[in-house]
Amino acid sequence: MKPIRSLMLVSSDPESTRRGAQEVHRRLHREIKALDLDDEVAVSMIGDVGRHDALPMVIVYPEAVIYGPVTPEDVHFLVEEHLHKGRIAAGLQASDRELSGRIAWLSARRGTLPAEQRIVLARVGLIDPENIEDYVMYDGYQALGKALTTMSPADVINEIGKSGLKGRGGAGFPTGMKWRFVSQANGYPKYVICNADESEPGTFKDRLILEGDPHSIIEAMSITGYAVGASQGYIYIRGEYALAQDRLHKAISQARQLGFLGENLFGSGFNFDIHVHIGAGAYICGEETALIESIEGKRGEPRSRPPYPTTHGLWGKPSVVNNVETIANVPSIIRNGAAWYRHFGTSNSPGTKVYTILGNVNVTGLIEVPMGITLREVIAIYGKGMKNSASLKLAQTGGSSGSIIPASLQDTPMDFDSYARTGVSLGSGALLICDEDTCVVDLAKVLLNFFRRESCGKCTPCRVGTQRAHQILTAISEGIGTQRDLDDLQMLSDRLTEFSHCGLGQTSAVPIRDIFRHFRAEVDAHVQLKVCPAGACPMSGQWVSIHWAGKSGLSPM
Ligand code: SF4
Repeated sequence: MKPIRSLMLVSSDPESTRRGAQEVHRRLHREIKALDLDDEVAVSMIGDVGRHDALPMVIVYPEAVIYGPVTPEDVHFLVEEHLHKGRIAAGLQASDRELSGRIAWLSARRGTLPAEQRIVLARVGLIDPENIEDYVMYDGYQALGKALTTMSPADVINEIGKSGLKGRGGAGFPTGMKWRFVSQANGYPKYVICNADESEPGTFKDRLILEGDPHSIIEAMSITGYAVGASQGYIYIRGEYALAQDRLHKAISQARQLGFLGENLFGSGFNFDIHVHIGAGAYICGEETALIESIEGKRGEPRSRPPYPTTHGLWGKPSVVNNVETIANVPSIIRNGAAWYRHFGTSNSPGTKVYTILGNVNVTGLIEVPMGITLREVIAIYGKGMKNSASLKLAQTGGSSGSIIPASLQDTPMDFDSYARTGVSLGSGALLICDEDTCVVDLAKVLLNFFRRESCGKCTPCRVGTQRAHQILTAISEGIGTQRDLDDLQMLSDRLTEFSHCGLGQTSAVPIRDIFRHFRAEVDAHVQLKVCPAGACPMSGQWVSIHWAGKSGLSPM
């Protein structure tokens, strides 16, 4: 490897690309060549750097100076100042306020950091995701080599079991147990499936993992295949994730060329290869059995369970289905051991959780935090507080299918057990933070609109129930809801939970259940007083005034 004096990394997530990152990258090469520095300075594109308010970013090592946002027109000045004159390019550096602890880790060049502990995202934003040499340089494929040359498949499953890793797709099922079921199941061939059909509004962590570190998923799937006795893997990826698809295809091709995929890996006799299957945009295909149907070329509808995919999965054969974030933990656990992994998080929920943090906070973006952190800490440390110093009213944990929790639960540790005890779901990984201007009826209406559109239509409770629930919430938000509507909504919520065939219909009831549980007075105000306390619902101002005046004893305007 040729020594260089400087390394310049350009963020290349979709938002950076939209704002001209490719042109910044091109001009950097041109300016560096013009100064005859191309032997001394390397330029690479990197994935998402975990924050979205100063994109595109250019990070210059070894000084670890972070510039952003950088436009193509800034490039000449940046190169001239930083590389030629050897000083900070004034005015281009991201401000101190923006330089939160969330990216201070970049200066350490390694994953673990004081404020934010990265396992899944250890390389995201640090390496060139399109260069397998970068991945190998940062411990890449070491875990696969270790598993294949020093561990039996049972050892691998035991290590994952001891680590306490649980599924990060929402259900929280123990990963080691799932692998054991598949390894012990009769039937061959067996399959490894990585569920990358992330489709909930506001949830995009899996996309950023795939865009920023695609080789980690390839390595993890190969280890999984060895553990359960599978030689074929499928990555089912959302159709809209074009950049992630492109990088996966490149990474798979590179891994095949260097012998990390294919036959006789590490001389062990183990064969494994991966196919990328691109989805067509149906949310329901994130449900594992609908996903399997879709790979088989059928309409993406959930199967009845049991039997489960662990015994009757793809083509009726034993299959392990793991979410992207879940499986991304595997190489680190195998490389460092289960005991190391259990240092992160809580005793019953070890490890970290990746979230996208959105809504009324000062800094939005991608974070990886230890299990057990509280929402209050997430907002203060990573969100840099509420926007405009507003008060927290509620948060939705886990995307559209997650729970709506009031501010009073913000000190509950965010881990599987603590949340389950309070009836809250950790969900898939989006944290929507809302201030007092958010109306709970409006929020539930938006969520039910999503569910009614994404219902696959296979079963009546969900197909009709989500439509009807959305109609009622719309009526309530428009000030024409009745007490009978509230009763029907409560009944629908119960029926959706009880009789829907799959998780989509069941979780569509969660927003209704939660606003009744935590914000009943606000819902009632829409029906009984014809008032939206948050001022967000589209009621007629005059109509509201007349009604409100009648209730309050005042004369209408
Ligand atoms: Fe389809 Fe909804 Fe029934 Fe699931 S609950 S099978 S998404 S109609």
